[in-house]
Amino acid sequence: MPKISTRLESFTDSVIRRMTRIALQYGAINLSQGFPDFDPPEELKTALKEVAKSGPHQYEITWGSHKFREALAEKQRKFMGLPIDANSEIVVTCGSTEAMMVAMMTVCNPGDKVIIFSPFYENYVADTILCGAEPIYVPLNPPNFTFNKDELIKAFEERPKALILCNPSNPIGKVFTPEELEFIADLAKEYDAFVIADEVYEHIVMKPYQHTYIASLPGMFERTISCSSLSKTYSITGWRLGYIIAPAYITENARKVHDFLTVGAAAPLQEAALAGLQMPEEYYEELQDLYIRKKDLFLDGLKKAGLKYVEPQGAYYVMVDISEFTEGSDVEFCEWLIKEVGVAAVPGSSFFRDDINHYIRFHFAKKEETLIEAIKRLTLLREKLQLRSV
Ligand code: GLN
Repeated sequence: MPKISTRLESFTDSVIRRMTRIALQYGAINLSQGFPDFDPPEELKTALKEVAKSGPHQYEITWGSHKFREALAEKQRKFMGLPIDANSEIVVTCGSTEAMMVAMMTVCNPGDKVIIFSPFYENYVADTILCGAEPIYVPLNPPNFTFNKDELIKAFEERPKALILCNPSNPIGKVFTPEELEFIADLAKEYDAFVIADEVYEHIVMKPYQHTYIASLPGMFERTISCSSLSKTYSITGWRLGYIIAPAYITENARKVHDFLTVGAAAPLQEAALAGLQMPEEYYEELQDLYIRKKDLFLDGLKKAGLKYVEPQGAYYVMVDISEFTEGSDVEFCEWLIKEVGVAAVPGSSFFRDDINHYIRFHFAKKEETLIEAIKRLTLLREKLQLRSV
């Protein structure tokens, strides 16, 4: 038989999404793949109903409807503090997943190197390999998950084409400080590299931490491809609406890649999502408060259940240390957790470059009652493992 592409030999399907399938199979509470079990705001649901009647139902302009880009530019101008041009500096994509892939394909040639901080969101490695590029990993070191400056300089000395920055970061919930971002930005300028920023958790930041858009730093808009989506901000992960914001010389090319990959994001959903993009500023404050409450509730429960975790500064994930519970693999532990405890998590090893397998990742983008039930089950974990409670 003919052989499939060798590009696919070095990575597996997504472990995150695989865990969702196993969770469904065993009826576990799914705290693995990060998505809410609550509805989007009423405004979005009403708009969606209207769109069913009035359309559009056919293709939109491939890089996004005019109205969507205008509304997005207006919102992002406020938050990013940049004069974004809706006509030339935006590409609307099918989720941030497509935005990241398009960004990578737009700037990378086969053989190029790309810096990825480890732990990382697993798509980045697949994106890099699918472009024929090669990752250079720079560790984020516990307990604060900071990078070592010399290690980052050494990575830049390999002349990478781009650095991928997930901020606030998945899976550890790190919010990069302005100083860290300036350090990265200076290196990107010195070594003439692009920064591909994944900022899907831009509005989920735990006070007093604050999100800084790397594109907003002096001289950075020119070389940054800011990728984000509406999934997390408006609780519409299934709508698959993402986007790229970048200077025109990049978007002109990104539009070509996007055009041939997917043609365009769903036209009716772009129309309905205007109701989200036009939300007043209080919406984003309330969203932040909502996630701070969820984080406090869930972390408090983890503490009571005797689980050790890394306190997140942003996003909606928490890494729990399982070294006390198993010397075996985190993958097997997660499978056991689903079957015996009824809660699904993602094995941490899928996020790390090195052989680190003593973490599992939970997400807390769930209704209060779901989180309370998950905690109730997790409280039995030590008992099930016959460990003394702490
Ligand atoms: N970002 C989500 C997570 O890390 C998953 C997103 C996706 O599956 N597309 O769980």
